[in-house]
Amino acid sequence: MGRIIAIANQKGGVGKTTTAINLSACLAEKGQRVLVIDIDPQGNTTSGLGIAKDNVDNTIYEVMLQEIDISDAICKDIFENLDIIPSNVNLAGAEIDLIDIENREYILKNAINTVRNNYYVILDCPPSLSMLTVNAMTAADTVLVPIQCEYYALEGLTQLIHTINLVKKKLNPLLELEGVVFTMYDSRTNLSLQVVENVKDNLKQNIYKTIIPRNIRLAEAPSHGLPINKYDTKSSGAESYRMLADEVMSR
Ligand code: ATP
Ligand code: MG
Repeated sequence: MGRIIAIANQKGGVGKTTTAINLSACLAEKGQRVLVIDIDPQGNTTSGLGIAKDNVDNTIYEVMLQEIDISDAICKDIFENLDIIPSNVNLAGAEIDLIDIENREYILKNAINTVRNNYYVILDCPPSLSMLTVNAMTAADTVLVPIQCEYYALEGLTQLIHTINLVKKKLNPLLELEGVVFTMYDSRTNLSLQVVENVKDNLKQNIYKTIIPRNIRLAEAPSHGLPINKYDTKSSGAESYRMLADEVMSR
């Protein structure tokens, strides 16, 4: 126990947050203690799990500025077995605020180290290879990369893998690529199938067997502040994220 997974892809809108929320919720449903940390100033994981992001005082921003202890930023049991550290737009300033701090790449790692033993920790990264994403990769044991089944799927992947390797070399020698998970798969189109085949041919990395389908219920759930297993427990989205949770647990 005590595994830390960063969900990262600098491409926007590929399903990072949807995966962070629903993988966390499905791991929690299976009895694992989960801490999901929102490391994106957009705060989509925070609001998607029903927290009014603009009304929270203790966020990951205050933790990174070392104004509060990480344990004081944890919102406990928002669902059974599921804790969260929220984020909001204030986090956008962190890069500048921390510019003079020595070893700023390790801030998140040092904070998480004091609580990690109790948890699966899931980190939802912003769509960039910024200081925040580097902090997440430095803190993490593995990086999980969601890839949207669309034409430009492979674009940027080389850069992402290069960054992971750089972090591994300079900051976190034990970092591994957890694997790639395909998202928003549309079985009615040839394109989705072609993208999966193409990525499989080009990527010599772990690829999860579970493929997340395009499912409208997954897109609706955040507006109700619920993970998919609570919003529509029998939907294809819920079933697929449960399968992904099983695969993650078996690794
Ligand atoms: P960003 O880079 O902005 O953080 P992201 O990578 O976190 O984006 P999401 O926010 O998870 O991506 O997803 C982008 C949009 O696609 C959202 O509106 C989300 O509801 C929708 N979406 C994600 N996965 C699915 C899916 N499997 N089926 C249908 N809609 C989905
Ligand atoms: Mg997101």
